[in-house]
Amino acid sequence: MNRSISKAVVIGSGIMGSGIAAQLANVGISCTLLDIVPAELTEAEKAKGLSLSDTAVRNRLASTAITGLVKRKPAPLYDPEFAARIRPGNLEDDLHLIEDADWVIEVVVENLAVKQELLAKIEQHWKPGVLVSTNTSGISIEAMSAGRSLEFRRHFMGTHFFNPPRYMKLLEIIPGENTDPAHVARLREVAERALGKTVVIAKDTPNFIANRIGTYGLLVTLREMLQQGYTVEEVDAVTGPAMGRPKSATFRTLDLVGLDTFLHVADNVRENVQDAAEIEVFTVPEPLQKMVKQGWLGEKSGQGFYRKL
Ligand code: NAD
Repeated sequence: MNRSISKAVVIGSGIMGSGIAAQLANVGISCTLLDIVPAELTEAEKAKGLSLSDTAVRNRLASTAITGLVKRKPAPLYDPEFAARIRPGNLEDDLHLIEDADWVIEVVVENLAVKQELLAKIEQHWKPGVLVSTNTSGISIEAMSAGRSLEFRRHFMGTHFFNPPRYMKLLEIIPGENTDPAHVARLREVAERALGKTVVIAKDTPNFIANRIGTYGLLVTLREMLQQGYTVEEVDAVTGPAMGRPKSATFRTLDLVGLDTFLHVADNVRENVQDAAEIEVFTVPEPLQKMVKQGWLGEKSGQGFYRKL
C-alpha cells in the first residue's frame, strides 16, 4: 500500500506539535491537532458557566495553539486556506480519527513512559498503511515501540523536526530495527518534496545525531562560561550574532527549546551512556535544574533566562 499523504493527526499541541501542524497545513495536508483534556476550568470558563465536559474546554489546549498559529500567520507565506486545514481535538474523545489518517505524529512531552502509553493507545485505533512517527528529541525508537505489534513497528519511526519547524530545514528520520524501508522512503519523500526538508537518516542512538552534538555544545558552554563568571548577555553576545549565527545564541536557544524539554533531552543521554566523562558532560548543572523546578521553562512559561514581556 503506498498512498499519498493528505491527512495527518498531530498529537501534542505544544511548541513543536503546533509548529509541525502549521507546516503540514501550509503545504495542503489537513491536520487534526490533539492534546490532553485540561484538568481544570479557567476563571473565564467558570464565568461562562462551562464545565469540563464542554467541547470548548476539552479542546482548549489544541484550540489555543491553533488560534496562536493563525494570529502569527505572516501573509503571504501562508496561504488563505491555512486555518481551515487544522482542527482541534482531544485525546480522550478523538483518537479514533487516526483510523482515517495517512500519518500520525506523536509530539507530546519528552518522557518515555508517556510516549509508550500513548503509542499503545494509538495502536488500538491504528490500521496497516497508516504511518506513525515520533518527534522525540532522542529517546530510543526501539524502547518507545517495545510491546507494539511487529506490523505496527514496521510503520513506526522517528521524524525529528527542529525548532521552529517552519524555518529549520533539517529533519532526522530514525528507523527502528523493524521499520519497513518502503515506509521510510514514503515519509522521506513527503519531507523533501512537500515540506522542503533536508533529510538525514540517523541511527537509533541516544539523542540521534543533531541533539547529541547540540546538547553537548550547550551544556559545555553553559557550564564553562558561567563558572568563569560571565553573564547570560555576554555569553549570548559571543555565541550568537557576533559569531554570524543570528539564531543560535546559547541562552536564547535554551529559552526557545524549553528548559524542561532540554533537561529531559540531556538526561536521556546521561542515562544511556556508559563513559564516565560523557556522563559528567551530560549532567545538567544545578542552577538550570532549579529553574525548571520553580516553573521557569523559557518562552513557553514567560520566564527562562530571559523574561518574555
Ligand atoms: P511542549 O512542552 O511545548 O508540549 C508538550 C505537549 O504535550 C503539551 O501540549 C502537553 O499538553 C502535552 N502532554 C503533556 N503530557 C501529556 C500526556 N500525558 N499525554 C499527551 N499529551 C501530553 O513540548 P515541545 O517542545 O512541543 O516538545 C514535544 C516533543 O518534541 C518532545 O518529544 C520534544 O523532545 C520534541 N522536540 C522539542 C523541540 C524543542 O525545541 N522544544 C525540538 C525538537 C523536538
